[in-house]
Amino acid sequence: MAAVGGPTRQARGVSMSVSMSLVQGGAAGAAGPQGAILAAAAPYYQPPAVPQDVQPDRPIGYGAFGVVWAVTDPRDGRRVALKKLPNVFQSLVSSKRVFRELKMLCFFKHDNVLSALDILQPPHLDFFQEIYVITELLQSDLHKIIVSPQHLSADHIKVFLYQILRGLKYLHSARILHRDIKPGNLLVNSNCVLKICDFGLARVEEPDQSKHMTQEVVTQYYRAPEILMGARHYSAAVDVWSVGCIFGELLGRRILFQAQSPVQQLELITELLGTPTLEDMRHACEGARTHMLRRAPKPPSLSALYTLSTHATHEAVHLLCQMLVFDPDKRISVIDALAHPYVDEGRLRYHSCMCKCCYTPSAGMRQYAAEFEPSAPQPFDDLWERKLTSVQQVKEEMHKFIAEQLQTNRVPLCINPQSAAFKSFASSTVAHPSELPPSPHQWE
Ligand SMILES: [Zn+2]
Repeated sequence: MAAVGGPTRQARGVSMSVSMSLVQGGAAGAAGPQGAILAAAAPYYQPPAVPQDVQPDRPIGYGAFGVVWAVTDPRDGRRVALKKLPNVFQSLVSSKRVFRELKMLCFFKHDNVLSALDILQPPHLDFFQEIYVITELLQSDLHKIIVSPQHLSADHIKVFLYQILRGLKYLHSARILHRDIKPGNLLVNSNCVLKICDFGLARVEEPDQSKHMTQEVVTQYYRAPEILMGARHYSAAVDVWSVGCIFGELLGRRILFQAQSPVQQLELITELLGTPTLEDMRHACEGARTHMLRRAPKPPSLSALYTLSTHATHEAVHLLCQMLVFDPDKRISVIDALAHPYVDEGRLRYHSCMCKCCYTPSAGMRQYAAEFEPSAPQPFDDLWERKLTSVQQVKEEMHKFIAEQLQTNRVPLCINPQSAAFKSFASSTVAHPSELPPSPHQWE
């Protein structure tokens, strides 16, 4: 692999670490350890002394199907994210979707993909309604950073894009389509380490082209043209389109295609890319194709990408143009994007001072990992889904699965209903309306 030269190429001394101002809540509250939502599920367990200035539990996000709180792990005082998946067993579809997300969170082992640290003990099967997953807590996300006054250097953009692609290569190698890549689902910590999160809409790719896939995916601004045009089947290329939109947004500091409706979304895309050829629209549904052909043809205006910002160099625009390709079959793959020269500096920086896969011995040169962008060791298996045909069956299997995940070497955790924040935590069951998955546009 070309790229991160060797130990002789040191990362340049741009500070990546301290400059990200984040959303640390300094709100005062009575939530000491006794008031905390998370408690040890062992009656005689004495938790270690936790620092007095521990922050109160508070909500930090609303995913497509759940709510996330920042809480304290009573076993070590660490701040973690507690995700509540409510009303899991309302229907077969919703319960299988939650089970899938849970299995994925336990499957992932990659530094740029959020994974489960722990799952709370489920109650007896008869009372099993909700699931609580603990993940690492990251202080911010790319959306908050983009809209903040925080300065974003060319190095920031490169190292963020590199990590998005690195995480996505892992997901796609596991045959997983994320289907909701957007800045708010890219968590970032104060050292600029980025992790892809929220797998509420993720699924295993469908190799059978004749099988229909739902169009209720991807937040509109980041939705690929084939989905906007009603394609019945789509591929991992939908995630690459989203990454292209985010890359453009990082460069220009504003949403690249910000439209009011799916039809206008497609208009904005064709204003930049030009009217697609019939061949490029072969995945589209008939109504969408007819709509497009009725419009006056537009020429491409890709040179507009150079005006996004001074960071929009030839190399940046060259890569961006390969992500923003109308025809998904001609769109660049994540693997090929990672081989683009624009990504080299992000890779160099990441593996020089940010990653966990390389290390520098106390006296010596940096030891680089054999594989800079590892694939998943095996694809994510979804055959189990087909065997589940009733809600009760899913419930039993999920109960068993969680019990198997529980770590025997740690004290299990539970929710403390006596805690100060419990009431508002328990009532925060509804996903934020603006975060709900979009409804598909009907062509005629
Ligand atoms: Zn590394």
